[in-house]
Amino acid sequence: MALLHCGNLTLDGKSGSAVATYIRVKELDLVFDLGRCPMNFIGISNVFISHFHLDHYFGLPIYISQRWLSGIPPGNIYVPSSGSKQLMNILDKISALDTGRSWAYQINPVRVGDAIPFRQNLVAHILPSNHSVPAVSYLICEVRKKLKPEFHNLSGREIAALKQAGVEITTEVQLPLVAYLGDTRSIPLDAHPLLKQCKVLICECTFILPEHRGRARRTMHLHLEMLPPLLANFESEHVVLTHFSRRYTPELIRQKVFNYLPPEEHSRVQLFL
Ligand SMILES: [Zn+2]
Ligand SMILES: [Zn+2]
Repeated sequence: MALLHCGNLTLDGKSGSAVATYIRVKELDLVFDLGRCPMNFIGISNVFISHFHLDHYFGLPIYISQRWLSGIPPGNIYVPSSGSKQLMNILDKISALDTGRSWAYQINPVRVGDAIPFRQNLVAHILPSNHSVPAVSYLICEVRKKLKPEFHNLSGREIAALKQAGVEITTEVQLPLVAYLGDTRSIPLDAHPLLKQCKVLICECTFILPEHRGRARRTMHLHLEMLPPLLANFESEHVVLTHFSRRYTPELIRQKVFNYLPPEEHSRVQLFL
C-alpha cells in the first residue's frame, strides 16, 4: 500500500494501470476509485468511481457486501451516469449468486457539471475526463462561511445584533482541496474555475518511456512528456502521480519522472507507488 502525506491530507491505497486503483483520503472520508477493496476501506462512507474499467470499480461488490453483512448502512457510491444501470444489474446478479438476497446499496449516477454536497461541508464537482470509455474527474471543495466584506469593520456586538435582526451576514466560499483526474488523455483545465487552485492534484501518468507514446495515445492515457506544460497551470501545493503501467519498476519510474520534470516541480511532486 502506498501512503503519502499532502499537507493535512493523507492518501493511502494502491494504483497501477490495469491492475487496480483505489486511493483513500482518510480525513475526507472518501475513496477515489475502488479497483479492489481492502478490509480497512469498508468503513469509508463516500466512494467516487471515475469510470467502468475493471481496475477502477471491481472492489465494489466486496465494499457493498461487507457493509451489508456487518449491518453498516450503505455508503454513497458515485459513478458516471452512463453505465450506472448496467452496474446495478451486475451488483444484483452477484448478490443473488452470493446470498440469494439483494444487498442494500446506494448508487448515485453523476454527470459533468453536477455539484454534489456530501458530509457536512464538502462538495464534489463533476468534471469531464477524456478516456476510451465514458469517464469523469472529481474536484472536492470545502464549503466555508465567511463574513461579508461590508461587515468586516463591525464589532462583535454589532455583528451579533445584525444576526439577531435576521440579516444574512455571511457568504459561502469554496476551497478546492483535492482534484482526482482518473484515467484521461488530457486535463480539463477550464472545466471549473477552482481546479487550477486545488491544494492536491492527483493525476495519472500511465506511460513514461518515449517508445510508449503511441500506446498512450491509443489507450487514451497521459504520457510523462505531456505533463510539464500541463502541471505549470496548477498552483497546487502537492501533485501526486498515479496509475503507472506495470511494465515499469518503481526504480525506473522514480528515475524517469524526476529526470524529465523540470527541477522546480520536484518539491511538490510525489509518486503513488
Ligand atoms: Zn485504469
Ligand atoms: Zn481506464
